[in-house]
Amino acid sequence: MKIARVETFILHVPVTNLEIADSAHRVTHWGAVGAIVHSDSEVRGYGYTGTHGHLATDRLIRDCIGEAFAPLLIDEDPCQVGRIWQKLYHSPSIRWVGRAGIVQMALSAVDVALWDIKAKVAGMPLWKYLGGDGQKRLEAYNTDGGWLNWTRAQLIDCARAAVDEGFRGVKLKVGSADPLDDVARIAAVRAAIDRRVRLMVDANGRWDLPTAIRFGRRLEAFDVFWFEEPMGFDDVSGHAALARAMATPIALGEQQYSLDAFRAFVASRAVHYVQPDATRVGGITGWLQVADLAMAYRLPVVAHAGDMMQIHQHVSLAHPTCDMLEYIPWLRVCFEEPATVEGGFLKIPQMPGAGTTLRSDAIDRFGVS
Ligand code: MG
Repeated sequence: MKIARVETFILHVPVTNLEIADSAHRVTHWGAVGAIVHSDSEVRGYGYTGTHGHLATDRLIRDCIGEAFAPLLIDEDPCQVGRIWQKLYHSPSIRWVGRAGIVQMALSAVDVALWDIKAKVAGMPLWKYLGGDGQKRLEAYNTDGGWLNWTRAQLIDCARAAVDEGFRGVKLKVGSADPLDDVARIAAVRAAIDRRVRLMVDANGRWDLPTAIRFGRRLEAFDVFWFEEPMGFDDVSGHAALARAMATPIALGEQQYSLDAFRAFVASRAVHYVQPDATRVGGITGWLQVADLAMAYRLPVVAHAGDMMQIHQHVSLAHPTCDMLEYIPWLRVCFEEPATVEGGFLKIPQMPGAGTTLRSDAIDRFGVS
């Protein structure tokens, strides 16, 4: 089998309640920027990365796939994913302009499309192709009820509704100008839900070390399960110092683009819940490398769902470090077999491939150019 053609796409899909915010971003549409890799047989692979629906930067990712990577893919055997990943990753002219950000997100999209082909050729859903046994219960925790632009009453209603649906974990965004406002929101939600429901908080990199220490120590009274991205995304020593200063575990990884970046945090004991995102860290190939690294340090992996769960349900079902996955449902309308949570657990996908096959109307409905 050979790669005959690479098609690109940009989808912008509306988020819940028209607009969501965290301490760093306001988003009205989730972007899926990706590749459809056509082989010389009937098989096609679909892969994408996740964005904030900003058209100018989405076009840069699309062009990196279509103009820079596509010529390197033509006539390659799409099932030789590992070799192709090395070829693209080490392509000198492309590496010269980026080992993170746009280039790595484009590589991620291509890599996912190739794994999609590989699993389809094997006739298996990717989780099974990667060695999963189908017996695992993958728990979902709900991120889509705790946005920073929502009122305290909305947070309470959403947390209660999620628990009623079977979720055993909910996440709240923090990072307000006055951290005491966040403490009050956490206290209100904690009081509204069963003590056994996990409560995570996420500052999206907002604070400095002294603020994070003061805030982090207050979290202990509410039995917060993890404190996500407390400080600047690349501050390894700061997170290591915070980990020593508070009892609440630290989660991070959604802004890391490489195995080396993760190694720095993991080896410095600056993270407890490792959150690689296959749409940023070099696709499924890069994600598996990071999950194996975490396993060597006996750390749990809970993927960041920049893909909105489609890809990560597969790798999480297959990898021994994963028991939990983030739930955000925005892209479900795009896929032939959308990721589905029932009673708080991911339903096991059955279609061959990586879960990324687009519905035939997805590009007509959500495509932009
Ligand atoms: Mg986050």
